[in-house]
Amino acid sequence: MPLKNSFDGKTTFAVDLGFGVLVVRDVPATVCSQCRADWIKDNIASKLEDIVNDARRRHHIVEVTTISA
Ligand SMILES: [Zn+2]
Repeated sequence: MPLKNSFDGKTTFAVDLGFGVLVVRDVPATVCSQCRADWIKDNIASKLEDIVNDARRRHHIVEVTTISA
């Protein structure tokens, strides 16, 4: 479980959209201090969903962006 020995950190979210790849950097996440596994919070996950939908519309082969708080 991530609740013990975890801290607020950042992660990189990457997804293959078929036509291309989207990378989102500086995504706020809860990070396990032991194994560095990360968990993205629900409110952030829904923001990522919006970013993914925008990227699908733009249809770039490679897109690298950061999440805005
Ligand atoms: Zn862990």
